[in-house]
Amino acid sequence: MLSPADQLVGCILAERYRVIRKLGEGGMGTVYLAEHTTINKKLAIKVLSPEFSHKQDLVDRFLQEARAASMIEQENVVEITDFGSTPHGSVFFVMEYLNGEDLAHTIKTQGQLKWDRVRPIMVQICTALAAAHEAGIIHRDMKPENCFRIKRGRNKDFIKVLDFGIAKVTSDDGEAKGLTRTGMIFGTPEYMSPEQAKGEKVDNRVDVYATGVILYELLTGRVPFTADTFMGILTKHMFEAPPAPSTIAPVAEIPPEAEAIVLKALQKDREYRFQSMDEMMEAIEAVGTGQAAVNVVAEDVLAPQGGETRFQTTSPVPSNTGYGTQDEIVVPGKAGVGLLLGAGAVVLAGMGGLAVYMLTSDPQAAPPAVVANDDAGQVADDDANAAAVGAAASSGGEATAAADAADDVPDDGAPPMPPPAALKVKITVSAPGIKGDVFDNRDDARLGATNEPFEVPAGTTSIDLYIRATGYEDFLTNVIPDADKTVTATLAKETSRPRGKKKTKKKRPPTRGSEPVAADPPKKDPPKKDPPPKKDPPPPKPNGGSPDLKDPFAKK
Ligand code: ADP
Ligand code: MG
Repeated sequence: MLSPADQLVGCILAERYRVIRKLGEGGMGTVYLAEHTTINKKLAIKVLSPEFSHKQDLVDRFLQEARAASMIEQENVVEITDFGSTPHGSVFFVMEYLNGEDLAHTIKTQGQLKWDRVRPIMVQICTALAAAHEAGIIHRDMKPENCFRIKRGRNKDFIKVLDFGIAKVTSDDGEAKGLTRTGMIFGTPEYMSPEQAKGEKVDNRVDVYATGVILYELLTGRVPFTADTFMGILTKHMFEAPPAPSTIAPVAEIPPEAEAIVLKALQKDREYRFQSMDEMMEAIEAVGTGQAAVNVVAEDVLAPQGGETRFQTTSPVPSNTGYGTQDEIVVPGKAGVGLLLGAGAVVLAGMGGLAVYMLTSDPQAAPPAVVANDDAGQVADDDANAAAVGAAASSGGEATAAADAADDVPDDGAPPMPPPAALKVKITVSAPGIKGDVFDNRDDARLGATNEPFEVPAGTTSIDLYIRATGYEDFLTNVIPDADKTVTATLAKETSRPRGKKKTKKKRPPTRGSEPVAADPPKKDPPKKDPPPKKDPPPPKPNGGSPDLKDPFAKK
């Protein structure tokens, strides 16, 4: 039987694009080779997976990719030209067809590249991202897979940056558009900046960091941090100094300034990184001219083990280069101090007993995050979603997406990592003597019964629950699923006429039984209380009659 994806082969979309064959599959959809029926031009069409097409927020996010990329208009960014709906009720967008290979494939087949070749590739990547940042777009998922290498004229290394699928579009006031309220896993751990790993607010400098990892990989043939688990990799990004590229690849291959550029881009503290893509590009262009003063700063990061720990905050770098420092720093053990906040503990305990210490100097930092689905209308926190560790999606579709995204790890020989979606905590709603049901207020899914533990995906975002029992008013409460816990429901006897079939969900401020504030991990964006119930909108109409389909190209 043909899968829904294959059914599109041979179809004509929007009366003008004939789908020829599948090119690749991504986290949210499938990319096809297509041909314009009139002018015969080859194009690539990305179609949102049918299982997501009824979720308006996912449709919006998907088209956001088209909109984000089309806002950039720079030759090193893939060009997006059209969008529409498929006969099966999903959405697609049209982009230029890239006949080439991605840099991951190049690294895999050719190994490390010489600086002479790396430099123009990196300059193009920096140029593409500088243009994106200029347009208010942070890519957030830069990795070699998302850099296509095509032949253009005599240039066999023309670069096109693509896959703005999790790009964050900032509006004029700097606010992110609220399109990321889904708790899916985003980002790829190998390229993830420490602040993304921690679930902090991100800015352009996450792309500087990821570009630093790409540069590292091009020069050495491998990424700086590998581990058996997703969290293992993120932990290294947060707490471990990257091995200097020259310790991996022959020193002769890597100009010392290039090495300094890598280490500067990979600084844990973004204040020490290049502050813009332009700055990084200038440093790359200045390599070999003697004009690049690249300052790598020794960083005071906490050791991931208890007890007094000696470690170096920057990797040993050749001493003849005049840049960087090689300070050895003694860090007093911080065991027991600000340790293992909330879900971080759950995740880490579940992944081999790694311990992560929060930086006590940064009490605002979110714990290594398990990101819950915050569809409940809580403040949309893109960055928490980008934190990549969480997959506490409440619907099957999102859980699938999360698992897919977890699979989306470069195939560099590392064993496959289990999707963190599997992490659960046990919640008990205590309502002594009252037999009732507990529902998730976001989607009305029944979670379990009162007075019996039920499992929910672990997370640090509060879940709104309501408890329904015959003869009682609905009781609304919330819980942060960062550990096994019990919440108390004090249900009031129903006073008015009994409920009919129709739900009469009473929304009360979840004061009684809700999470005590002091127990919460520090959070930048506390969830809004008592959100309105949310309904999935109807699926977009098939092509031709798609008034529901928001034009991703419409400038907002
Ligand atoms: P994801 O967001 O899941 O990473 P991508 O947008 O990167 O998805 O696309 C998935 C795959 O489809 C890519 O790895 C690539 O092989 C192929 N692909 C995507 N866009 C194009 C394009 N414009 N031309 C050719 N192939 C493409
Ligand atoms: Mg991709």
